[in-house]
Amino acid sequence: MRFMPWKCPRCGQAAAGTLETVPGLALLMFDDNGQAEYSGETTIDWNDQATDLDESGKVILECSNHHRWPAEYED
Ligand SMILES: [Zn+2]
Repeated sequence: MRFMPWKCPRCGQAAAGTLETVPGLALLMFDDNGQAEYSGETTIDWNDQATDLDESGKVILECSNHHRWPAEYED
């Protein structure tokens, strides 16, 4: 695969990776009256991980300095 640009426009480093969204289920606990509280645990669904895209369909790359930029992606 190829990305353009593959280097950070701010610091010149190669991208460390693509920005991804992974859905999670924040677990709830209910009392007998239906009052809910978060249990403090979230289960992550790695099978539904998806690459984030900007409005024009470009992937979002990030360098090791946490700069982000949109890039064209080619398989
Ligand atoms: Zn950078």
